[in-house]
Amino acid sequence: MQLPPLHAPRTLRGRLTLWNVLILGVVLVLFTLVVYSILAHSLSVEVERSLDERADQINTAFQQQASYLSRFRQHQSVNIPPPNPSTFASSDSFVQIVSLDGQVLGTSDSLGNANLPLDAVTFQSGQPHYQTVQLGHGSVEVYSRPLVINEQVIGVVQVGRPLGPIQHALGQLRLFAGLGLVAALILSGLVVSAVSGKALRPLERLIRTAESIGSSRDLSRRVTPPSSDDEVGRLTLTFNQMLSRLEASDRQLRESLETQRRFTADASHELRTPLTSIRGNSGMLMQVPDMTAEDRAEAVEEIHREAERMSRLVGDLLTLARADAGLALKREPVEMASLVQSVASQARMLASGQRIVVEAPDSVMLMGSPDALRQLVLILLDNAIKYTSSGGLIKLRLSLYNQVVVLTVADTGVGISPEHLPHVFERFYRVDPARTAGGTGLGLSIAQWIAQQHGGYIEAESISGRGSAFTVHLPMDSSSTEREFASTDVQQTQPTDVDGQTELSPS
Ligand code: ADP
Repeated sequence: MQLPPLHAPRTLRGRLTLWNVLILGVVLVLFTLVVYSILAHSLSVEVERSLDERADQINTAFQQQASYLSRFRQHQSVNIPPPNPSTFASSDSFVQIVSLDGQVLGTSDSLGNANLPLDAVTFQSGQPHYQTVQLGHGSVEVYSRPLVINEQVIGVVQVGRPLGPIQHALGQLRLFAGLGLVAALILSGLVVSAVSGKALRPLERLIRTAESIGSSRDLSRRVTPPSSDDEVGRLTLTFNQMLSRLEASDRQLRESLETQRRFTADASHELRTPLTSIRGNSGMLMQVPDMTAEDRAEAVEEIHREAERMSRLVGDLLTLARADAGLALKREPVEMASLVQSVASQARMLASGQRIVVEAPDSVMLMGSPDALRQLVLILLDNAIKYTSSGGLIKLRLSLYNQVVVLTVADTGVGISPEHLPHVFERFYRVDPARTAGGTGLGLSIAQWIAQQHGGYIEAESISGRGSAFTVHLPMDSSSTEREFASTDVQQTQPTDVDGQTELSPS
């Protein structure tokens, strides 16, 4: 028959209980053994000491009697009997006197008809000797020593003491120690199991919650923290904090996936419009050969316009895709005043009747990407031109405050109403798609990304029907800037209109 293999308990509680019982068991067994051995040894020493004393008394008594005898024999003949062994014995001890030839000369009454067995060692060597013998139903410790009178060995005195009472007491001790040991182990096992069960209960709750979170994927759940501040309490706290972080990053991931999905949908939608127009016009050119030269020119112009719009859109999408991929701009010292002047000259060529005025100090240096900064200024100027009617004024102001370069592009255009203002930096957001004259809705998103890449931000202010102002704040050296732009990257405010004059007015 094969025994099943022994396995350690699978639970921490079971292992704690088992180890406690094992260690306590070993300690108690060792302790009991030591105490028992010391007690048994001292009892045996005590028995031997009492036997030795008794033998001494007997020998002394015989010696005294011999002195009397010799004294009296010199004067008169008297018969003095030898000492009776019973006088040296009690109910729980035996005395026996044996002659040198092994003849029993006398025994104590406590021995009855029995005799103590002769000790061969004492008889042969003449030395005192202890031996344990079986007498009747019990063991007896017997001490045999030569009986010396007037320095002459005349026999052997044997003194015995039954070991029954001592053996009974030791037996009782073994029984109680054994029972006590088992009781102590059971009790300590129960106590440790109960206490560890109570201490580990929050851990159980933690495991159950973790399992149910795993199966339900509900990261909003938390474990009720235990009132104690022990290891389990700290573990619960850490677990809850970890869940909060997981929940936040899960939310972020979902949001960015949703943004990505919306972006892709918007991008395809935006690309479809010019493509449809190009396909329609080119199809018409191919299928209607007898078109008038005027209609033909109009169709070709439309195709050209839509192709340009598409390439602008693709360019913008590429810039934003690079931005999303974490593209870092290369920095170099940029002289902002001349950069602004040059972009303004370029924008003047795009303007259709709008006046562009630049206000800039002689030189303002900035650590940044010249191409990206040029694109930023152009986006703002292009918007100002697009949304300002002919004859309007566009003012470009460059200044320096506390190591921060401040660039404002203000126009007297159509303005943006307050409900749209907070959204103009969103991708593909256009206030009025019909009015945006070729706009893709990506310009301000790109401008915002460029500002952030330089450690700065953009503010937008506008009054519907009166004009808008976009202000870019760029630290001179963004590497030394410790600003946190996650929450303040874009600030949209409504400017105060004092005495009917808007402070946006570039004039
Ligand atoms: P778009 O390419 O359409 O101009 P933008 O991201 O640059 O895209 O701008 C988003 C929207 O913000 C525009 O569609 C427009 O409605 C509004 N907007 C931007 N600049 C101005 C401005 N200077 N004046 C009025 N509206 C503006």
